[in-house]
Amino acid sequence: MEFLRPATWDEALAAKAEHPTALPISGGTDVMVEMNFDVHRPSAILDLNRITELTEWSSDGETVRLGAAVPYTRIIEELSGPLPGLALAAHTVGSPQIRNRGSVGGNLGAASPAGDSHPALLAAGREVAVEAHSVRGVRLIPIDEFYVGVKRNSLEPDELIGAVRIPVADGPQQFSKIGTRNAMVIAVCAFGFALHPKDGTVGTGIGSAAPTPRRAVEAEEYLRGVLAERGLWESGELLGPEVVQRFGELVKAAASPIDDVRGTADYRRHALAVMARRTLTWCWNDYRKQIRSAA
Ligand SMILES: Cc1cc2nc3c(=O)[nH]c(=O)nc-3n(C[C@H](O)[C@H](O)[C@H](O)COP(=O)(O)OP(=O)(O)OC[C@H]3O[C@@H](n4cnc5c(N)ncnc54)[C@H](O)[C@@H]3O)c2cc1C
Repeated sequence: MEFLRPATWDEALAAKAEHPTALPISGGTDVMVEMNFDVHRPSAILDLNRITELTEWSSDGETVRLGAAVPYTRIIEELSGPLPGLALAAHTVGSPQIRNRGSVGGNLGAASPAGDSHPALLAAGREVAVEAHSVRGVRLIPIDEFYVGVKRNSLEPDELIGAVRIPVADGPQQFSKIGTRNAMVIAVCAFGFALHPKDGTVGTGIGSAAPTPRRAVEAEEYLRGVLAERGLWESGELLGPEVVQRFGELVKAAASPIDDVRGTADYRRHALAVMARRTLTWCWNDYRKQIRSAA
């Protein structure tokens, strides 16, 4: 097996162009497990650990550009203000060791339906986009179009993820995950939720309850309509229980889970409705506090 160790991003892109089947390795928390279990015997490994810019993030106040290899620990420590949903999701990943090495770029590369970043990224807004770099240039892939099948993403063989662009939160965000224990656990199912008061929309992301991470589009549209028609963004009045209930039902309907070792499809649907109701209630309560304190 060839071991490619580029020192610069340009060298990495050239190496990927020359060896399109080379398997990139960043934190290695997925790659090393799969190699040890013989899931992969790639012809070449492309080690990205010398590319320092992948471990950097920046923000212009509107959007965070998150380098593909920024580890979860730093997302929690440095980005819980602008990216609260992603930081909450990062908290639930693995253990401290895994959070020190594992990255959102690696989560996207693996594209597992159970990856914890995905519901948070989907909920964070339609503007979320993955920067796919190659020697041909940079392509922005909207997050909705990134996941194309079980553990499959829309990267071309010569492309690498450089960064993810995520809008700075303009309202409360939440993430909820069900596991068979409290830590070091792959999600039985997960849910990300975000309020976007600036444009009057809401965001959702379902994890581990469909072949790919996905949004609950009808639930988003329903809630967007209720919030607008009843003037709730302005009044900050309580949502009626029927609204919360209906939102949960629509999230549940958007899932297409399977029975597996971690849980049954029925349990996943039930749990999603519960998580959707809870995260909506938490976010709405936070939003009401924000507008009251601003008044
Ligand atoms: C004990 C343990 C617990 C875990 N718990 C969780 C958990 O709770 N939640 C969760 O979501 N995940 C969990 N994981 C899985 C893993 O930690 C995450 O998926 C993590 O985000 C992977 O990041 P990484 O940088 O280590 O990726 P790597 O292992 O380096 O790579 C993962 C995949 O992405 C590709 N890749 C990496 N970087 C790039 C790039 N720049 N461009 C294109 N492709 C790239 C690789 O080729 C590979 O296919 C766990 C893993 C272990 C071993």
